Amino acid sequence: MSLFSAVEMAPRDPILGLNEQYAADANPNKVNLGVGVYYDDNGKLPLLQCVQAAEKALMDKPAARGYLPIDGIAAYDAAVKSLVFGTDSEPVKSGRVATVQGLGGTGGLKIGADFLKKLNPQAKVLISDPSWENHRALFTQAGFEVGSYRYYDAVKRGINFDGMLADLKAAAPGTVVVLHACCHNPTGYDITPAQWDQVIATVKAGQLTPFLDMAYQGFGAGLAEDGAVIGKFVAAGLLFFVSTSFSKSFSLYGERVGALSVLAGSKEEADRVLSQLKIMIRTNYSNPPTHGGAVVAAVLNNPELRALWEKELGEMRQRIKLMRQKLVDGLKAAGVKQDMSFITQQVGMFSYSGLSKEQMVRLRGEFGVYGTDTGRMCVAALNSKNVDYVCKAIAQV
Ligand code: PLP
Repeated sequence: MSLFSAVEMAPRDPILGLNEQYAADANPNKVNLGVGVYYDDNGKLPLLQCVQAAEKALMDKPAARGYLPIDGIAAYDAAVKSLVFGTDSEPVKSGRVATVQGLGGTGGLKIGADFLKKLNPQAKVLISDPSWENHRALFTQAGFEVGSYRYYDAVKRGINFDGMLADLKAAAPGTVVVLHACCHNPTGYDITPAQWDQVIATVKAGQLTPFLDMAYQGFGAGLAEDGAVIGKFVAAGLLFFVSTSFSKSFSLYGERVGALSVLAGSKEEADRVLSQLKIMIRTNYSNPPTHGGAVVAAVLNNPELRALWEKELGEMRQRIKLMRQKLVDGLKAAGVKQDMSFITQQVGMFSYSGLSKEQMVRLRGEFGVYGTDTGRMCVAALNSKNVDYVCKAIAQV
């Protein structure tokens, strides 16, 4: 009898399982669209020029690696606040935002979830149906009962907005509602600004707690455009949580750079919230790592590097848009009769293709084209060399 004899084997992460299958596939034409990663037109993970320049400057003046403060690099936290809320915004000026550096967007979400569990232990959490896989697991692991609100409408190929609103209206006061601020993962469908107004009114009337997951700021319409939804929540007088990820927007996946921002009612309240967030961090991993935060802070706080970053981010955004158009055109040219133009209405890195599990399995087995069983494909992994092949493969299934 071992201490671990009753330990069950946990299910494999579906995306990582797909990656392993892809790696073992001998098909020379194979394409991995199962990932949640941006690749450039050569199929390579980019190392942004702004990141290289910031790293070079850091290397030119090598610094010792002491512990960072529990809440991270002050210049980093300040830059995140400005990016999320706007430099001249009332919340930033009045000091009522508490921001902490986190281990990627996931880390920001988990710090927020742990704090919320202490704040309101009885609350339930609602996530979109479907949502990023880890939302349910993460909030469940933090001790919450996690339910969902309607979001994707497979028949209509879009959002079931009436269903979403009805589910939010039915939620008990205090319910934590996880909302994708932009570039909904996995569907690629975002609600319109007018629909956001309705969501905000419902959240306010129902006294729900909004938790905005902003993992793709800059991949939708632009940094300011994607951040505009935050301004709407502020204008409505709501207090809320925002997690930020720089994994995709800086192509710094492995450095684990992200943040959590909490908008409180006053500076004094924000200070108290910050003190509690620090306990969550201190008891989990004590304080964040130095390198990624230092790079992002250097870029965001230097006008030249910042401009370079915005240019490079814009290029990533435009390339994804181009691939969406090429997909639509290519599918038509390959003989697909159905109107596939919904792909260009979606935003961000992903597309819910509308393909069935059987079709996705055939795409993998017969063509080496890998997407998830739900029909999600990463448009950001398409390029000028593989898009025609992918279109022909889809046309055949
Ligand atoms: N939230 C959403 C919606 C995501 O898609 C992702 C990453 O895929 C994350 C959070 C996590 O980001 P990070 O890798 O920075 O932890």
